[in-house]
Amino acid sequence: MGAKQSGVTSQNDAGEWDVIVVGAGNAAFAAAVSARENGAARVLVLEKARREDRGGNTHFSGGLLRFAYDNVDQVLEVSPEASKLEGFIEGIEPYPESAFMADLMRITSDRADKELGKILIGNSFDTVRWMSRLGITMEPSVSLGGVVVDGKIKWPKGAVIRALHEGVGLSKSWFSIAEREGVEIRYEAAARELVQDASGRVVGVLVQDSEALRTYRSRAVVLACGGFEANSAWRAKYLGQPWDHAKVRGTFHNQGDGLRMALDIGALPIGQWSGCHSTPINAKAPPYGVSKLTDKTNRLSYPYGVMINRDGVRFLDEAPDFQFFTYAKYGRIILMQPDTVAYQIFDQKVVHLLEGRYSTSEPIVGKTLEQLVDQLPVNREVAKRTLADYNAAAGHGTFNPGILDNMHTEKLALPKSNWAQKLDAGPFVCYPVTGGITFSFGGLKIDNQGRVLDSGWRPIAGLFTCGEMVGNLFHDNYPGGTGLISGAVFGRLAGTSAARFAHS
Ligand SMILES: Cc1cc2nc3c(=O)[nH]c(=O)nc-3n(C[C@H](O)[C@H](O)[C@H](O)COP(=O)(O)OP(=O)(O)OC[C@H]3O[C@@H](n4cnc5c(N)ncnc54)[C@H](O)[C@@H]3O)c2cc1C
Repeated sequence: MGAKQSGVTSQNDAGEWDVIVVGAGNAAFAAAVSARENGAARVLVLEKARREDRGGNTHFSGGLLRFAYDNVDQVLEVSPEASKLEGFIEGIEPYPESAFMADLMRITSDRADKELGKILIGNSFDTVRWMSRLGITMEPSVSLGGVVVDGKIKWPKGAVIRALHEGVGLSKSWFSIAEREGVEIRYEAAARELVQDASGRVVGVLVQDSEALRTYRSRAVVLACGGFEANSAWRAKYLGQPWDHAKVRGTFHNQGDGLRMALDIGALPIGQWSGCHSTPINAKAPPYGVSKLTDKTNRLSYPYGVMINRDGVRFLDEAPDFQFFTYAKYGRIILMQPDTVAYQIFDQKVVHLLEGRYSTSEPIVGKTLEQLVDQLPVNREVAKRTLADYNAAAGHGTFNPGILDNMHTEKLALPKSNWAQKLDAGPFVCYPVTGGITFSFGGLKIDNQGRVLDSGWRPIAGLFTCGEMVGNLFHDNYPGGTGLISGAVFGRLAGTSAARFAHS
């Protein structure tokens, strides 16, 4: 077939498929299953991880899926069991496509590619419905976004449903569905290079498995092998210091392999290569995601408290918006603080509002604010003054965690815009946090069929991509729950297009 063989002998020809998908996360399986549904007879998933480490970032995720819906019936269509949750039906407010688009554009400072946004949002409900039909069970995301106000759960619009058993359940379901749908899976199969024929068409993948380098031939290839978040050299190169020191919230396998392979054959990089999704996490979190701990290192209840750094000062407005619209950018700001740490401080008026995952670490406790600060490795004199100044400026208005309550500080140089109660009900608790990286934002340019474009803005024949590898969707920040739906929508699109291309 005239393919570039990279010195690999013909004995190492591993056979031919219609569609090869690289990676075994949410985006990859959406692609593989849709390729099967669209007529691809032989679909192969190549996964670098061992079977026991499988699932990619998808496994570590909270399973939250943001999607557009006009009414609660649509939500119940994908999660019928939700109707049994008291108050669910009454508590759901519509989240039409226009609201999702407004959130995406606002949160990314108008930089998200609108065409990609339209594809994502316009297909979000139908894709969740497709996942549900395939057998992925959905449930209300009570512990992730719901806040109990006056005994009722108040839901953040758009982010109300997650996969049952979160990312662990989602990943497990995808493997079962793929096997049921006849997708073949190879573990410990690391894609190294894309193979092209003389015309430039992608006709396979060079793969290192546990025994040999082999060429897997195919009529189309979908790259779904994540961003470069776990690659410290690339983090240093594209994100700068101190990202090489950042803790990785998910898999250690997302090293940018797919991005490198595509760039090597002339793919067009696009989007914010200096940006990433990163969140406040337990300062003592392990360096990479731990399979059993998944996303439980997140510390996202900061809007109800105050954050100070080692110098003893506040360094951001803890509550300009709901946490789902700030958490993905606050990891970066925390990482930029001295020694890459910060301290979240709460009083007893709000400890019941802290997300359940705070229980995976022990707080530092002080009967008084002074006693608390005396235990922290911060500039204590400054910290005490900071908290006293905050308390003097806070406490105006009525606290309501279900809405942006406009309970803001007064006459403070660095304001806290909502939920600014005084810290006055001891004992006080403190959780040390750092910024953990979730995934990189820079990616590949795709068209409306999920085809990868080259630097001449033309499709590279036979090459498709999806998931974290899609560039130009997120900039600086990200609306919570959009990664999985993006992977599913663009994965489904890439799989459909790859199957059609394979038979063209
Ligand atoms: C802790 C955490 C919590 C999150 N929570 C949420 C949430 O609740 N909602 C949400 O929307 N998003 C969430 N996200 C983001 C979201 O989970 C990810 O962005 C999404 O799962 C990425 O899907 P993907 O298929 O693109 O990549 P992945 O799921 O990471 O899959 C990529 C796969 O490619 C494999 N791979 C890499 N290189 C190669 C190679 N050379 N050859 C073969 N295979 C390779 C990897 O091993 C991996 O299995 C979270 C992420 C993390 C880390």
